[in-house]
Amino acid sequence: MNAIINPGDRVQMRKPHPCGSDEWIIYRVGADIGIRCVGCNRRVMLPRSEFNKRLKKVLSREEAGEE
Ligand SMILES: [Zn+2]
Repeated sequence: MNAIINPGDRVQMRKPHPCGSDEWIIYRVGADIGIRCVGCNRRVMLPRSEFNKRLKKVLSREEAGEE
């Protein structure tokens, strides 16, 4: 899936994280995409092509300020 994403967006990935959550918050957008697991706060960097492969859908635009 090739979606337009911005830092702060909440996304759903095809495979759940081992912690059980399948929702992530985007924290960095560039050549690599940085995502943070909503369930356990673990941060992961993925190449954009890999991110697009794993992305299931964009859930919402989060209000700025959540850290
Ligand atoms: Zn997790």
